[in-house]
Amino acid sequence: MLLRHTSSEVMERSALTINPAKTCQPIGAMYAALGLHNCLPHSHGSQGCCAYHRSTLTRHYKEPVMAATSSFTEGASVFGGQANLLQAITTIFGVYNPDVIAVHTTCLSETIGDDLVQIIAKARSEGKIPEGKHVIHCNTPSYQGSHVTGFASMTKAFVTYFADPQAEKTQAINIVPGWVEPSDMRELKALAKQMGVEVILYPDTSDVMDTPYTGKHDFYPKGGVTVERVQASGGSAATIGLGLSASSPAVEALQSKCAVPGTMLELPIGLQGTDRFIDTLHKLAGVEVPQEITDERGRLLDLISDMHQYVHGKRVALFGDPDQLVALTEFLTLLDMKPLYLVTGTPTPQFEARVRKALGGNTPEAKIKAGAQADMYLLHQWIKNEGVDLLIGNTYGKYIARDEDIPFLRFGFPILDRVGHSYFPSVGYKGAMRLVEKILSLFMDRQDRDALEERFELTM
Ligand code: SF4
Repeated sequence: MLLRHTSSEVMERSALTINPAKTCQPIGAMYAALGLHNCLPHSHGSQGCCAYHRSTLTRHYKEPVMAATSSFTEGASVFGGQANLLQAITTIFGVYNPDVIAVHTTCLSETIGDDLVQIIAKARSEGKIPEGKHVIHCNTPSYQGSHVTGFASMTKAFVTYFADPQAEKTQAINIVPGWVEPSDMRELKALAKQMGVEVILYPDTSDVMDTPYTGKHDFYPKGGVTVERVQASGGSAATIGLGLSASSPAVEALQSKCAVPGTMLELPIGLQGTDRFIDTLHKLAGVEVPQEITDERGRLLDLISDMHQYVHGKRVALFGDPDQLVALTEFLTLLDMKPLYLVTGTPTPQFEARVRKALGGNTPEAKIKAGAQADMYLLHQWIKNEGVDLLIGNTYGKYIARDEDIPFLRFGFPILDRVGHSYFPSVGYKGAMRLVEKILSLFMDRQDRDALEERFELTM
């Protein structure tokens, strides 16, 4: 009993979070910055913050994560970190030679009130930023929001700093993919390519956080969207933003800065989400959907109809990032499962409304909560009061799963104790098939484990 102190009595809390269903803002900013080619993320704060952000990303992606820090000590904590950042910019361009330094703040530098716009302007006026190089920034006070907020803010910074309203007008479609895995970004590009649509996708962490083994270390991997492509996105025909929480700020900024019309969709996880993504690409780009994509969709439908009896009516608890939870809810509902308890630590306006819409009038008894008190302790309490058949969330859910003996599907961020998420997509029809396969395997393994000897079947 690892979480033996979790009581089943749910009490109203206003100023206490226990086992938050989120992580810190700069981690998201760092992940987004890694999706820019030749970019070195820079954490404006203490070394400890930067070490935590890097190690969390490294543990999830099993890849080295390069990032710099302003290395605040007592002096910077009292007088501000301007001198540290100016020195850091000089050192980084001199030693590591990135195209871009992407600076995010931390709790400490935000509390001091460091003005990054002013510091970056000073660095430029003092000639510390070489010709053709860039320093961009976003503010990521971690006592607000979550890693999703940080990801959204850094993605918006790509637009604010680089998107060019005077860029040549093209038929390209911008895709802002939201917080998904490198495998998902790769799959989104592959689907667009199959449809013959030129896309500019950013951030793009494919070939950065899932690099092939070559025997040599590239400080800057070959992947990531280039600055030139982000600049060109200002002339694209349209933008598709995936995941309202992670992508809306960038899509809105692009629309207002460069007049590129934006369409916001929920993440293309599951059948309906992928249908909407494919249909939107088809309409915006004026292209036909190729037969191979239609066939892929048909195989997903076939799998669902063949195996539906194993998942029908199963009760599910979910925690994690809002965009992923909404998309998963819609797909689980299509599978005739019952998403009953949902918590996200990311403060998300309209979260309950989005989940209810995804439920489509099903499971009206579902309990849904977002924000600081929507933590894993509360989720565990709900489960203790009325159990579920499946738990879905990041690695931290394993304690609840073990205590309550519930099959556990690892999904989201961070996943520290399994592999696969960065290699196999969850988006698209193929991703949906993988999700169904994983859910089925969990239920079938459980059925095998619990079967009486005389009911232990070779085929199921
Ligand atoms: S101090 Fe703030 S920014 Fe640093 S690791 Fe903690 S929550 Fe994140």
